Amino acid sequence: ALAAGAEALRTHVRDVHDFPQPGVVFKDITPLLATPAAFGTVIGALAETARRAGATVVAGIEARGFLLAAPVADRVGAGIVPIRKQGKLPGRTVAESYALEYGTATLEIHHDAVGPGDRVLIVDDVLATGGTAAAAANLIRHGGAEVLGLAVLMELTFLAGRERIPSLDVTALLAI
Ligand code: AMP
Repeated sequence: ALAAGAEALRTHVRDVHDFPQPGVVFKDITPLLATPAAFGTVIGALAETARRAGATVVAGIEARGFLLAAPVADRVGAGIVPIRKQGKLPGRTVAESYALEYGTATLEIHHDAVGPGDRVLIVDDVLATGGTAAAAANLIRHGGAEVLGLAVLMELTFLAGRERIPSLDVTALLAI
């Protein structure tokens, strides 16, 4: 159902060159967020993925993942769990660090946010190298929950992120 609309969605994603550092083409989804029809199409498609997978929890990755995960969770009657950058969650957390091109990053989840019996779909805006998704999946599994997969608006296929997360079922509405 999305195939026809995918090209239309693409026009609402803006390339910002050399952000946040030289050589990177940042995929800016703010025009899409500001266009109700496009945003609705995206949320509808991601919600369909969540429904089909039988998600009981949608895990959103800070920060743009939150903007997508919350309406998806609401549509399918699932809970939303935030996966945040280090130092932002108030309660006891579990942390996972991973390598970036330059340096490392750390993600955290509340230690009791998910548990056995939870069926979790991870949602984010962009799949790049897959490091973020791999760390998020580890945090969810650490709690004993089942990771159903990763659903993103866009996949940067030239970075081969899927190869870093072979255990995850990846759904991408757009590929670049
Ligand atoms: P990675 O861990 O390399 O897969 O990077 C994915 C995370 O970084 C996601 O949370 C994205 O929001 C963000 N990200 C990485 N590359 C880009 C990009 N070119 N444009 C927009 N966001 C990106």
